Amino acid sequence: MTTNKDIKSLYVHIPFCHSLCAYCDFPKLLAIKSFIHPYLLSLKKELDSYYINKDLDTLYIGGGTPTSLDDEEFSFLLSMLDEYTSNIKEYTIEANPESLSKNKLEMMKIHGVNRLSIGVESTNDDILKSINRLHTFDDVKKVMKEARNLGFDNISLDLILGLPGVNDEMLKEDIKRIIKLKPNHISCYSLTIHDHTKMGIDRIEPPNDDEMRKKYDLVASLLHEAGYQHYEISNWCKDDKMSLHNLTYWKDEKYFGVGLGASGYVNNYRYTNTLNISEYIKGKYIQTKDNIDQDDDFEYLMLSLRTILGVNYQEYQRRFHEGFLSKYLFKIKKNDDLKYFIFEKDHCYLNYEGMMILDTIFLNLIS
Ligand code: SF4
Repeated sequence: MTTNKDIKSLYVHIPFCHSLCAYCDFPKLLAIKSFIHPYLLSLKKELDSYYINKDLDTLYIGGGTPTSLDDEEFSFLLSMLDEYTSNIKEYTIEANPESLSKNKLEMMKIHGVNRLSIGVESTNDDILKSINRLHTFDDVKKVMKEARNLGFDNISLDLILGLPGVNDEMLKEDIKRIIKLKPNHISCYSLTIHDHTKMGIDRIEPPNDDEMRKKYDLVASLLHEAGYQHYEISNWCKDDKMSLHNLTYWKDEKYFGVGLGASGYVNNYRYTNTLNISEYIKGKYIQTKDNIDQDDDFEYLMLSLRTILGVNYQEYQRRFHEGFLSKYLFKIKKNDDLKYFIFEKDHCYLNYEGMMILDTIFLNLIS
């Protein structure tokens, strides 16, 4: 059984943003000064309330916008986390281009941050404005240059697929401009519209499944031509620079999550923290806790089939005390899904077609 000592990943959530994007459904709030310091103090208390391995493999500070903190707050946050980073393999911070100053980049270097995940979303300034982003594409170019000059050699850029007003030509342009910046990693997420967001209230419709699929096909072919490896449904990388932290989730491994609305997976349960900032500051952290049946392979299959690491036969046997192939190969054949799988000596995974219809394949497997 995994003990807290064996958990090698930590997620830290900074919920503050300088502006609220029209599509955003993440736990976030406007960066109101009076909340920030008490929040950081409470975050420290939450960290101290767990036994967290000082020998972590991955640490990921996400948001919100971690770089919306001012220099003093940012330095306080990084110093608070120093004790976990002595042997860190991957230390990522999410950043928005307009608030990723040279000063903050230098601080990150000093504290051992070795990966940046920058929210680009679109390379078209009119589109960026229409979704309430505060940066321009020139800001992205500027921070990429500064980060490279300071020695950051693992940078991920994010795009959103399906934003209103972006046609295929514009999408092509987005991808070409992104490729030109030579990021090590690219994430492309499809637009989802939630009722309570500005886009939801304005009743904006996202592209339908066929339209979205065409966008993915276009992106996948341009990134393939440029030498990027499609290693997860929405993620591409070069030189094997997969996101080690996100692989923790996709391999269904355990992790701590701290901060407003953060979730974690420890012992035999998954937990989610409160979304109420006042409660959080008062130290009422966990809102829900769900027991996970460790003999049920449901989550493991759903997550591991997202990546090209797929289902490792030995790992499956270790966790569920039976063979994956002996349990599922007959079913895969019967469902006529063999054409979506690639079988290697020690693991199997889905090809591009299979990844694009993961939900269907997964339902076929478990039904
Ligand atoms: S910056 Fe990120 S977290 Fe903040 S509102 Fe925009 S999408 Fe949401």
